[in-house]
Amino acid sequence: MHLHREDTVLVLSGRDKGKKGRVIRLFPGREVALVEKVNMVKRHTRPNQQVPQGGIVEKEAPIHFSNLQVVCSKCGKATRVAKKTLADGRRARACKKCGEILDKEK
Ligand SMILES: [Zn+2]
Repeated sequence: MHLHREDTVLVLSGRDKGKKGRVIRLFPGREVALVEKVNMVKRHTRPNQQVPQGGIVEKEAPIHFSNLQVVCSKCGKATRVAKKTLADGRRARACKKCGEILDKEK
């Protein structure tokens, strides 16, 4: 899987094509992700604990992985992801455009 939580991604197709956002949730089994403020849909909901007043709530709808591309934190470009093996043997994702390692925190 080439997407991680908290990644900044570019939307490649659909209504929000060209928008960038942060991945807030991944559903690996369905190969979709929720991206902050992207692909917003209006939901009519009954009052519940999260939304005590009920009514129309805007929320993100999932987008398929194939419509998302990771934005490199170094060069700022949307890129495909290369897999690299680090000196200590860990596998990491890297930007295909500039070679920057994108998973330094792990
Ligand atoms: Zn890059």
